[in-house]
Amino acid sequence: NEGRFHGRTALVTGAGGNIGLATALRLASEGAAIALVDIDPGKLSQAKEAFAAHGTRVEAYTCNVADRVAVSAVVDQVIGDFGAVDLLFNNAGFQGAFRPIHEYPEDDFEKVMKINVFGAFYILKAVSKHMVERRFGRIVNTASMAGVQGPPNMLAYGASKFSIVGLTQIASKDLAPYNIRVNAISPAFMGPGYMWDRQVELQAEAGTQYFSSDPTEVAKQMIASVPMRRYGDISEIPGVVSFLMSDDSSYMTGVNLPISGG
Ligand code: NAD
Repeated sequence: NEGRFHGRTALVTGAGGNIGLATALRLASEGAAIALVDIDPGKLSQAKEAFAAHGTRVEAYTCNVADRVAVSAVVDQVIGDFGAVDLLFNNAGFQGAFRPIHEYPEDDFEKVMKINVFGAFYILKAVSKHMVERRFGRIVNTASMAGVQGPPNMLAYGASKFSIVGLTQIASKDLAPYNIRVNAISPAFMGPGYMWDRQVELQAEAGTQYFSSDPTEVAKQMIASVPMRRYGDISEIPGVVSFLMSDDSSYMTGVNLPISGG
């Protein structure tokens, strides 16, 4: 396999999930060796099977990104197994509750922040330390349009994704002297499937002026807010990540690219 990532190793977090797996498969199809990281061993072993056709090395690692000791150990292990990490897709995330601020559950806020912000920071720190030594790295963080627009009822998630945009901008400056680029993607509504259904149902249940209490209506309201009048398909994400990791984006760092239908 002589694709543009031939000889490179990519570490992908949330690799058992929809966006992580689709993106890991794309990077593998372009020649990268892949380290899959996820908290869910079942999803990981299923994910690993999907790579059979690509002929690149793929290993799976169970790790909770919110556990900094575990993150440090797993990054060391990946570096030991593959020799290096060149590409990082820092993508693990959790959506949390849908409630207005005055009713927002504290424990959910803490959980979302621990996974989405602390987890992203621990991975970013451990991998960038290694990349600084090697004077090479391409990093893409998964933010969200929720971290740009601030949708109602998604306090923890939205705030966590605003943090990802901030981590991206600041890390890009800290790492620019070391030939390491750091960018983000911000998907918006992706469907169909579990994430879309969950979002529609929970926005309906939140019972606020912004959305109907009928999930079918909420789905229509959400689509009507998108200029392209449809949700995005997961397959519309991996190419953007691959672009940000490739030399086609060689003069881009610190940006957050919306994948949102306008
Ligand atoms: P998903 O639920 O399919 O995948 C998320 C993966 O992260 C899962 O495999 C899960 O096991 C893993 N994970 C959760 N907590 C973890 C932890 N503590 N440590 C390690 N792994 C953990 O969802 P997805 O849509 O593929 O989401 C991927 C990223 O995209 C997330 O950061 C999410 O916030 C973001 N995003 C998704 C959408 C969407 O509509 N699907 C929109 C915008 C942003």
